[in-house]
Amino acid sequence: MTISRAPRPPGEGGEAPGRSGDRAAAALALCREKGIALTPSRRRILEILAIEGRPLGAYEMIDRVALATGKRPAPISIYRALDFLLESNLIHRLTSRNAYLACGHGHAAREPIVFLICETCGEVVEATSHELNGSLAGLVEKAQFSPRATVMEVAGRCRTCAIA
Ligand SMILES: [Zn+2]
Ligand SMILES: [Zn+2]
Repeated sequence: MTISRAPRPPGEGGEAPGRSGDRAAAALALCREKGIALTPSRRRILEILAIEGRPLGAYEMIDRVALATGKRPAPISIYRALDFLLESNLIHRLTSRNAYLACGHGHAAREPIVFLICETCGEVVEATSHELNGSLAGLVEKAQFSPRATVMEVAGRCRTCAIA
């Protein structure tokens, strides 16, 4: 199983300075690797999500963009940009929270993803698993189903919160 820990919000987890900037750089490097050209507004949204390191709702995103640019964007433009980033597999959507988060891994679009969501501290960990990939591939093949995306969400308590 491959686990990527979405870093905690600043001030909560003692994250080393510069990490959020690194995440933004990594997200943009991934775009270049995939040959995806981003408009300035889409690029800004991806950077905001990468720096944030936790899921953000569309309206929180509008606030962030307004803060960064001094101009409040129309919700439709934010939704369009988020849709584009989702289709490009650069971000994921957490259905249960109606929120978005940057991926930054560059795994295959059809690879199943499991989100481990801590209901106490809000930490979201993205995990993938070859075993899971194999069993799900067998399952959809049997059903002759063409999956677009496979995202699972597991809610509960993270290791830190479970022992607190
Ligand atoms: Zn991902
Ligand atoms: Zn927790």
